[in-house]
Amino acid sequence: MSPGGERLAPACLGGSYTCVPLFSHGETLGIMRLRPAEERAEFPAELRPLIPGIVRQVSLSPAGLRLQDRLLHQSIRDPLTGLFNRRRLEDELTAQTAHAAASNRPLSLIALDVDHFKRLNDTFGHDAGDAALVRLSAALRELAPPSSTPARTGGEELSLLLPGHDLAAATAVAERLRAEIAGWTLTHAGIALGQLTVSLGVAEFAAPLSTPAALMRAADEALYSAKRQGRNRVVASQPLNPEAWLTLTPG
Ligand code: GH3
Ligand code: MG
Ligand code: MG
Repeated sequence: MSPGGERLAPACLGGSYTCVPLFSHGETLGIMRLRPAEERAEFPAELRPLIPGIVRQVSLSPAGLRLQDRLLHQSIRDPLTGLFNRRRLEDELTAQTAHAAASNRPLSLIALDVDHFKRLNDTFGHDAGDAALVRLSAALRELAPPSSTPARTGGEELSLLLPGHDLAAATAVAERLRAEIAGWTLTHAGIALGQLTVSLGVAEFAAPLSTPAALMRAADEALYSAKRQGRNRVVASQPLNPEAWLTLTPG
């Protein structure tokens, strides 16, 4: 914290009070207002030289809180899309699987991967790819129910953790998202990007998927199955037999 001496000059000097701007790292944090304990008494002139020291001390706490907020935001958010990052999703998975196990409430996970995204980047450029990711993330966020956790888990991979959703309900959410995206006519900088499609895998936290890692793996495996089957589709992992798949073919 290094407020310049000139910045510590009182911003206003009333007969009975004085207020001073609070700065830290060149950022205005607020205004501190000082007044004597006794109503209508003059602000004591001999205290004015102490103001810079007081301001320095007081600025430390809001600056520290803002820094803490910024660091927390950076540690859990993906900077491109604003979605939660993988670390935050994993924390939420740990908490939500424990809650689901204790309460017997259903919990499901959707894993999404953009189809042929490399081709889109190669054809239209990285900026167009970024714009598509931002658009996809906004669609995921809009569709996500209030208690769910939408996240960007990797480059062109997104996830949605859905408390209170069994496999059928989560699969319906995934299918809604797939159909919406497949219906888009995306443009970037005035150039049509062609049809963008996504593949999705869905898994429910139910025996034999009894750990967060098993749930993630099952959703990923269902997603790979969707890719193998031709992309632009949703595949649901079967809870009692993870080797069996239920495919919703677009139609
Ligand atoms: P598939 O249908 O099998 O998923 O094919 P794909 O091309 O989507 O998959 P692949 O793994 O071959 O390529 C993923 C591409 O995603 C490659 C990488 O350059 C791109 N990518 C990853 N992160 C970003 C990003 O933040 N912005 C952009 N524009 N591209 C990204
Ligand atoms: Mg991928
Ligand atoms: Mg992909």
